[in-house]
Amino acid sequence: MVTLLLHNVILIDGTGANPKPNMAVLVEEGAIRRVGTVRSAARPRGAQVVDLDGMTLMPGLTDAHVHFGLLGVNRNRKPDDNLVSYVLGVKENIETALQEGFTTVRDAGGLDPAFALAVEKGMINGPRILPSGSFLSQTGGHADHRSRYDDHEMPSVPGILAAPEICDGVDAVRAAARRQLRRGATQIKLMGSGGVSSPNDPLEGTQFTVEEMAAAVYEARSAGTYALAHCHTSPAINNALSAGVRSIEHGSILDEATAKRMVHEEAFMVATLHIVEMLAANAEAHGLSHYSMIKLEKVRSQMPVSAKLAARSGVSVGSGSDFLGAKQNRRGLELVSKAKVLGAMAAIVSATSTNARLFNMADRIGAVREGMQADLIAVAGDPLNKIALLADGANVRLVVKAGVVVKNNI
Ligand SMILES: [Zn+2]
Repeated sequence: MVTLLLHNVILIDGTGANPKPNMAVLVEEGAIRRVGTVRSAARPRGAQVVDLDGMTLMPGLTDAHVHFGLLGVNRNRKPDDNLVSYVLGVKENIETALQEGFTTVRDAGGLDPAFALAVEKGMINGPRILPSGSFLSQTGGHADHRSRYDDHEMPSVPGILAAPEICDGVDAVRAAARRQLRRGATQIKLMGSGGVSSPNDPLEGTQFTVEEMAAAVYEARSAGTYALAHCHTSPAINNALSAGVRSIEHGSILDEATAKRMVHEEAFMVATLHIVEMLAANAEAHGLSHYSMIKLEKVRSQMPVSAKLAARSGVSVGSGSDFLGAKQNRRGLELVSKAKVLGAMAAIVSATSTNARLFNMADRIGAVREGMQADLIAVAGDPLNKIALLADGANVRLVVKAGVVVKNNI
């Protein structure tokens, strides 16, 4: 593995500290060995020196809510798509994310963990993936996409396609959680409220009982991990918190008492601001029904207010794009939307060190610090002044993952 001296950068370290000009970072054996000023940087013998000429160096970006495996809106695939084109479509989503500067992501449902393994083995050139496997949803819940007149469930194809687990009752939810852990899920994803795209559930509806969710949380904890839950409203969030869920997804319609409870219970909120705007702008192309459009509008008007309330109350706000479909790109748009609500630095911290804490990986990723794993990106320009730079992968000139240069367009 080559030793790299990334020379002459403005450093945004991911902790929220002010940027530092004229810095150099030494990468050795996959880790960040030294962070110092250009003047103090000695060049070890054999090191490859990369002069970044004043570009911004940052931790590799992270995304806590991806759906690489959903090539349709909340569906794995169209019924007449073959599995070969499915696999290749998923591979394209994964590879694009890395080229855009995302070095670690958490899949929030719909991706078979075998894809994470394929990345680990170098067969797909993508970010490190923390897969949740199949969604766990109650009958008629947010991951139950059957029409009213169709009782057939889409089957999973273990190792390729993770279709939703429709499960009811404590024992069935427990078995589903165990099945996902067996298949390689690194955390368990629950559907705790109605959602926009599902055909038969009101947005305000709570889904799963506390006891059902608690069974999944118990199984996740027993395996050394945690559960995340899709929740749009405060009653749903409170159910999830009562069950011990650690990561609240969306949190679109949040009240103050619930925000305080989230702080008290050290739960994270993963606000997903951009997807809502994107779906609203292209509702027809995404095939949203009139019913879904009404639900979308409620979420769209409230989510920025709720994200601000969460941040102001002291909730750790993680970053998730929730992008869906084939040919997912411009993933950094989530940071642009978040910056409008919380500011550019908060958006960057959210997508680096806050997500790293959420992933239980803060000792390895999310900050540029000596001893951390070398996940780094170099951006042409200053993302603090112009956050939109991060929304176009062309501005991400250099991507280093675990000390290996995986993109070099300097
Ligand atoms: Zn989602």
